This record gives sequence, C-alpha cells and structure tokens, in this order.
Amino acid sequence: MRPSDLHVHTTFCDGAASPEEMVRAALELGCRRLGFSAHAPMPFEGYALPADREDDYRAEILRLKEVYRGRIEILLGLELDLYSLPVTKPYDYLIGSVHFFSPVTEDGTRREVDGGAEPLRDTIDRYFGGDPYAAAEDYFASVARLRALSPTVIGHLDLIRKYNRGAAFFDELSPRYLTAARRAIDALLPLDVPFEVNTGAVSRGYRETPYPAAPLLAYVLKNGGKVILTSDAHKPEGLCYEFDKWAEYVRMFG
Ligand SMILES: [Zn+2]
Ligand SMILES: [Zn+2]
Repeated sequence: MRPSDLHVHTTFCDGAASPEEMVRAALELGCRRLGFSAHAPMPFEGYALPADREDDYRAEILRLKEVYRGRIEILLGLELDLYSLPVTKPYDYLIGSVHFFSPVTEDGTRREVDGGAEPLRDTIDRYFGGDPYAAAEDYFASVARLRALSPTVIGHLDLIRKYNRGAAFFDELSPRYLTAARRAIDALLPLDVPFEVNTGAVSRGYRETPYPAAPLLAYVLKNGGKVILTSDAHKPEGLCYEFDKWAEYVRMFG
C-alpha cells in the first residue's frame, strides 16, 4: 500500500529540508499523501514557526498542493503545543502535542520535555524535587489537557520517554508512571481522533520502538482508540520511516 505521512517538519521550523525537497522525497517513496505540520507559533523564542512567517508557510504549502495535484495529496497542517499561540487560520488538520513541562521558569518560558538528557535531569531536580515520576505526572497531565485544543491527531503520546533508554530516569512499567499515562489516554479517547504511532525517536536513534511504548499502545487499542503511523521527519531520510515494520507491529496488538 502507498504510505501516507502527516507529521513532517521543514526549514519553516526546525526541519533541515524545504517543503518541496520533502515532497520530492515523498514522491520517490511512492507516498499517496504528505502532510506538513510545522510547530505552531509560540509566545516565546524557540524552534517553532515564527508568527510573522505563518503566511509564507501557508502560501508555500498551498502552492505545492496545486503544483503536485494528481501525483500526491498535500495537506496543510500544524503541530500545536499546549502553549502555542491560538490558531486563527484554516488548516487541513492539527496535531496536538506536549513539548514542555508546566512550571514556568524564571525567564517566563517553560522547560522542554525533549531538550536532552542533561537538561531533563536538571528540570527534574529543580522543578520536581528530584522525583522523575512527578515530572512524568506533570507531563501526562498536560497531555490530558490537549483535549481542550480539539486536535485532529494526538502527537507522540509519551515523548517523555525519549531519553529514558535503559530506564535512565524512570521505570516505564511502574504503577505511578502507567497510571499517569492511562489517565491521559482516558481523557483523550472521547475525542475519537487517532493517536500517533510516531517513529521519530527510532529514526533518530533515541529509542528502539515508536511512541507510544507497547503497554500504552496496547491500552489505547484495547479501549477502542485508533492509531496512525507518522514519522516526525525533520529531513527526507526520516519520511515514512520503517512504516511497513511498525504497521506489522501495531497489528500484533490487534
Ligand atoms: Zn512534537
Ligand atoms: Zn513534530
């Protein structure tokens, strides 16, 4: 089957390739559909699409939609964070994702969930009293709050495990961790939108399996949740990363 990929970044935010380069790579892979999901503009500095470039982003994706019509379906999307600026323009779809812990830092920003192992250690020490499970509870409480954004897709449900290889921070099977994660899933299931099976951490070598981890994926599916394969590609090589393999994996869960 020809693949689709709806989680794709470009040089409009923190990606390495232009939208058109990503379209050409997708055509080579035989994709039938490609969705662009720039990080929505944020109220503080960072890697997101700058607010004053939103119109350029929209115009470029809409241009590509026309140029490549009939060869590949191109969708205009955004990856929304809990702290993104409000969306005021029409988009084909919105991915809802959490990238920040909730405590506000001294400079008025927030600590990143996926900004590196050392920064994560520091965040846990400074803002969560050294308790990694408290950080996980904060993260998943934020994930539950994505509900208010009415996203079309739930992004990387357990991004917090990005740097947790070898249980470096927490035990992903501990009751406290699983309870927090399941609460978030329970809050989002009524939206009846797909949860990503996101291969971004696999393609970039951080983890061996996609988000969400097996116990959470099983919980989503057992409770009637839908899933969608996405790559979170930041460069052409990441597009549709190992989709055949992970589609088979999802099928094992029923
Ligand atoms: Zn993300
Ligand atoms: Zn992303």
